[in-house]
Amino acid sequence: MNALRARLLFTGSRWIERAEILWDTTGRIVRVGRAPKGAKVQDLAALPGLVNAHAHLQLEGVGPAPTTFVSWVGAVMASRARADQRTLRANAVANLRALLRDGCTAVGEIDSTGLSPAALRTVPFAGRCYQEVTGFHLDATSARELVAHRRAQGSDHCPASMSPHAPYSVSPALFAECARGRVPISVHAAELPEEQQFLREGTGPFRELLVRLGRLPEGFRAPGVGAVRHLERLSLLRPTTLLVHCQELERGDAARIAAGGASIVVCPGTIDYFGRTPPPVGEWLRRGIPVALGTDSRASNRAMSMLEELSAAARMWPSLGPSTLFAMATAHGGRALCRPGLGLLRRGARADIFAVAAEGRSSADVLESVVRGSLRPRATWLAGRMHRARSPGPNG
Ligand SMILES: [Zn+2]
Repeated sequence: MNALRARLLFTGSRWIERAEILWDTTGRIVRVGRAPKGAKVQDLAALPGLVNAHAHLQLEGVGPAPTTFVSWVGAVMASRARADQRTLRANAVANLRALLRDGCTAVGEIDSTGLSPAALRTVPFAGRCYQEVTGFHLDATSARELVAHRRAQGSDHCPASMSPHAPYSVSPALFAECARGRVPISVHAAELPEEQQFLREGTGPFRELLVRLGRLPEGFRAPGVGAVRHLERLSLLRPTTLLVHCQELERGDAARIAAGGASIVVCPGTIDYFGRTPPPVGEWLRRGIPVALGTDSRASNRAMSMLEELSAAARMWPSLGPSTLFAMATAHGGRALCRPGLGLLRRGARADIFAVAAEGRSSADVLESVVRGSLRPRATWLAGRMHRARSPGPNG
């Protein structure tokens, strides 16, 4: 049995003083509660490991933001095409280790090559590994073939499912095939004005791109509505759907998303990189939408750190309190990935924990300092295995 005894522990819903958390050799938590009387506790605050609900772990940086989104997509595709499989897998492992150093233990990975499950076995994050597919031209038969080809073997802690990329790159038949059986899906949605223009009117840079790629079906007619209403018509605004970005919601879209039960993930690093206006996350939360945080990739984010995302989120949405922001980086991420136990420390959950120096702080001070990025982990436990960080860590 392994134990961590800390002056403070946050389960994700409540604080425990002089706490003890016990886990077995498989990394499963068997007890969270008060430490026995007289037991020595370390001057630490233990918190649930952070959940990064949207990442592309294999991608590399492509420099400053190009002037248009389509040229950025071109730069990302060229960078991916240059890299061999070993490099892509090594990128994924390096990014997982970087995330782990800053207290993150779970990820919603968007895997466009099928290489990520191997990386996730090397650094065993929890979460979900979505296999990304595109195909705006695909009918039901070719969609079925593509999805059968791309289905991956995940693990118990990080099951695989599908990510139909976006409404401007995925046909209705491919959406239906990805979501068949109500498996969880992750979709980039309402990210760009050009996406909304293409879906409403069938014009603009995305039409030109599809024509260039030979992927615009003959006789194509635009859906005539924006991304969210398009997904609603495809019956995809449901609790197993995670919508990524939602920068360009139209009037009524937030209510549609809330009514359907879908989640949203926002990526503050990407908002910064492209100089976008932060969307109204406070309003979405008030409607009951689970809003999670993600790093996205190094192609649109300098750092690969959920603590950096948290502090950027605190700057972008100053009206949100530390406990709301922390929930976005933990339990909301678990819900968004359809892994509702993630981001909470409780019996039966995996021992995914990070600890910071408490040093006389109150629980409110600890949470505030973590969210503002001024208190970094001494150590992170991934499936019960300790990884020390930066300065000398605890003995436990
Ligand atoms: Zn993305």
